[in-house]
Amino acid sequence: EMFGQLTSGLEAAWTKLKGEEVLTKENIAEPMRDIRRALLEADVSLPVVRRFVQTVSDQAVGVGLIRGVKPDQQLVKIVHEELVKLMGGEVSELVFSKSGPTVILLAGLQGVGKTTVCAKLANYLKKQDKSCMLIAGDVYRPAAIDQLVILGEQVGVPVYSVGTEVKPSEIAKQGLEEAKKKKIDVVIMDTAGRLQIDKAMMDELKEVKKVLNPTEVLLVVDAMTGQEAAALVTTFNVEIGITGAILTKLDGDSRGGAALSVKEVSGKPIKLVGRGERMEDLEPFYPDRMAGRILGMGDVLSFVEKAQEVMRQEDAEELQKKIMSTKFDFNDFLKQTRTVARMGSMTRVVGMIPGMGKVTPAQVREAEKSLKLTEAMIEAMTPEEREKPELLAESPERRKRVAQASGKTEQQVSQLVAQLFQMRARMKNLMGIMEGGSIPTLSN
Ligand code: GDP
Repeated sequence: EMFGQLTSGLEAAWTKLKGEEVLTKENIAEPMRDIRRALLEADVSLPVVRRFVQTVSDQAVGVGLIRGVKPDQQLVKIVHEELVKLMGGEVSELVFSKSGPTVILLAGLQGVGKTTVCAKLANYLKKQDKSCMLIAGDVYRPAAIDQLVILGEQVGVPVYSVGTEVKPSEIAKQGLEEAKKKKIDVVIMDTAGRLQIDKAMMDELKEVKKVLNPTEVLLVVDAMTGQEAAALVTTFNVEIGITGAILTKLDGDSRGGAALSVKEVSGKPIKLVGRGERMEDLEPFYPDRMAGRILGMGDVLSFVEKAQEVMRQEDAEELQKKIMSTKFDFNDFLKQTRTVARMGSMTRVVGMIPGMGKVTPAQVREAEKSLKLTEAMIEAMTPEEREKPELLAESPERRKRVAQASGKTEQQVSQLVAQLFQMRARMKNLMGIMEGGSIPTLSN
């Protein structure tokens, strides 16, 4: 799972506060060391870790005791808030030009996913009813131009390409003219990447930037490179001036260092994240949801949002209400399970479902198989049992009947019932954190 190691590293910190009555300078010392270690292991840059740990400690000790809130829960809450702030607080929206086409210039080193991002971004903006055009400016790799043309076709967006004989700044100029003529809303220019930063690349980018006068200059960085990504954002910002970053490959086993360091180190926000190789796998960067994921709370909001693309609007809202009200029953479970199946790529979604947070990509195929199993068991339940899972929790006879009717074992039925209650508990926790109201309980 994304950031799995960081999540379990942080969990160690809360565990140490079990049984404490209040947060003191003394009893948070060790949990704070755990947090520090977890962040460093996640490849967050050292100055960022230092500041973070200091802020959290100050707040933890200074905070008044709230009746009914355990110290470990209080610390989780503080860490959640500080993680959100660290990642920039609010989501940082793309800026659009009010007159003439919006121009987005993309930069980045080779292999980070820049070409893919061009097409993903066009696909993303197209869904917002904006017409797009791509400009192929990676003149050093003919293959990159071909790739862009293919991806453009795939997402149904024109690609302006004049081969490799023309200077990028000239291509930019011609492409922009073409876009203006065609009254295109958003122009996205791909530029050449190098294996490392070099002066020629920077000079070329500066020149292209001058010609395009872009609305957004976004640096594409690879999440797998950790704090190095944050350093790159800083360098590009100093050299050419950028408006933000796009973090790719968050679906891989990146450790979190990049997501947590970029804003703090460079001052520039992450605007979008790439979470897979498909054209749909690009989304805004939501600091609060990311923090929720890091704390292992699953991600109900992203899940519901994805589900909305598949389900009818009312259904999605109803499901969201159910999820939030923790009345979530087996009917909802089945609906959710089927939605997930319809959404296709389990890999992307599995980490977002509360209660399934610990599933690794390697177990995904297994998870897909278990969808069928789940369906069989839920279908064998009576309507009453589906609505009141307590009935099954309380009665071995009922579980036995469901097992026999679905051709599964009693143990499998018990597991399913336990899973539903786990999901409810997690949703309750998440609610607590998001509303700042009741604080989550972390005990299992
Ligand atoms: P460029 O050299 O920066 O233009 O990189 P490409 O766009 O050619 O991408 C390099 C490789 O990374 C390709 O195999 C892409 O499919 C893959 N890639 C890009 N973005 C993502 C992502 O968000 N997740 C994953 N898993 N792979 C990605």
